[in-house]
Amino acid sequence: MSSIRCKCGHRTDTTGYPSPALGELKWQTEAETESQERSRDVRAFLAAVENKQDKSWARNYFGDEYAEGYPESIDMADVIEDITSRASSKGGRCVSQCEKCERLYIQKECYSDEWVCFEKEAAS
Ligand SMILES: [Zn+2]
Repeated sequence: MSSIRCKCGHRTDTTGYPSPALGELKWQTEAETESQERSRDVRAFLAAVENKQDKSWARNYFGDEYAEGYPESIDMADVIEDITSRASSKGGRCVSQCEKCERLYIQKECYSDEWVCFEKEAAS
C-alpha cells in the first residue's frame, strides 16, 4: 500500500513512517486486550530480571528478533518498549483521510488492502 485513490480523484500518499495520512482504529475491546497483554508481558519480563533470567526470557519471547535486537546486553527500557510495540501492533485497522475532501477510508480488516469509504455528513 503506497497510496489510496479517493472517490474525488485525489491520491493520498501513504508511504513512510510515521505518515501524516494514516492513523489507527481500534475498538475498546481490542485496546483492552492489548493493555492486558502488555501488562502481563512487562510483569513477566520484570520477574525474569529479578531472577536474572532476562536474557533467556527475551530470547524466548522475541525469538529470532532477539539475536538482532539484544546481542550482548539487555537494556530494560528497550525491552519494555519492544513489548509495548509488539502488543500494539496486533489488531486494529488503518484509517486514512483524504487531504482534499476529508472522506475517511478504513481498512476492511487488519493488514488488508481493501478499504471502506465513509463520506462526511453534517451531524444533526
Ligand atoms: Zn477525496
